[in-house]
Amino acid sequence: MRSTSNQLKTRDRLADLGDNRHEQHAISVETPIVTTIDLDRDGRQDGALHLYHSGETNGYGYIPIPVISIKNGDGPTALLIGGNHGNEYEGIVALMTLAREIEPQQIRGHLIILPCLNLPAVLAGTRSSPLDGGNLNRCFPGNALGGPTQIIAHYVSTRLLPRADLVIDLHAGGRSSTFIPCAIVREGKNGEERDMARRLAEWFAAPISYVSNGQGGGGRLTLSGECTVQSVPCLTAELGGSETLCRRGLQVASDGVMRVLKHTGILPVADPPAATATRWMQKTSGSRLHAMEEGIFEPRIELGEFVRSGQLAGLLHFPEAPLRTPAEVYFSTSGCVVSRHVPALVKRGDELCSCLSEAESR
Ligand SMILES: [Zn+2]
Repeated sequence: MRSTSNQLKTRDRLADLGDNRHEQHAISVETPIVTTIDLDRDGRQDGALHLYHSGETNGYGYIPIPVISIKNGDGPTALLIGGNHGNEYEGIVALMTLAREIEPQQIRGHLIILPCLNLPAVLAGTRSSPLDGGNLNRCFPGNALGGPTQIIAHYVSTRLLPRADLVIDLHAGGRSSTFIPCAIVREGKNGEERDMARRLAEWFAAPISYVSNGQGGGGRLTLSGECTVQSVPCLTAELGGSETLCRRGLQVASDGVMRVLKHTGILPVADPPAATATRWMQKTSGSRLHAMEEGIFEPRIELGEFVRSGQLAGLLHFPEAPLRTPAEVYFSTSGCVVSRHVPALVKRGDELCSCLSEAESR
């Protein structure tokens, strides 16, 4: 865990940057977001981040992004995020439930819970923000002078991550895909960071975990990418998809967060079900299968199925050429199918499914 003095040093550094804002206008740490709560105060505070936005029907108003702070003395700070993408529901519901149930006297340290981080997207039922089209998890570290989505990312990067000893960011497949519940962590910058990230995944104990280098998922532009830059341990989870709420994914999220809070000492009274050991897997060069043409994809595999290299993944049918022989799509790697495309209609370049191989080492 990072020490409080480190956090204070980080805050001092940010304050110094603020003093130099005339020279550093483009990366000014001033945020236009105003919060209704004091994150240094003990107790439970239910408040909002006021994201000021001048729209067609609301020229001088704000969007109230819910934030719940539950603090009790010294101890680690956990930042819990849902609704980074607006149409991924397991994390949103898991964190709203958690925020209602935990009392300040039960914890040692600090929980900062944002169940609906990109609230405009959550209310619109979309991955990206209807205000500016921004995909929040491709906007980090954000920009205080950018659009609403950039401003949210900037606030998290400059106001919340410097306080955090760990971050859990809960996702699902949205409209485009569906996942079996899995957890993703980064390697970190050194052995200590790698070990901490792996411990997080083992405590969270999703059925499958893997280490990502960030490529293919937005790299440094994601929240987990920014956490890596700032050396904050971060666990990202994929919990379901199809714009629905998967009960199994919800349970994995709720139990996993509770286990992490118990093991880090933030919620010693937590009593989640014992973890079943997570299965460590890895991405390989052939992990993702993409459509080579536009068409209707007929999958020949099930989510969670173990497949072999050379096995048929599915057929691509061509609605404008009914008599044309469907194209066959094959796996080039062996492993477990962890995600697949949801709409049957696909365009060239769409990801059809992804597959993880057994990890060579833990
Ligand atoms: Zn997502």
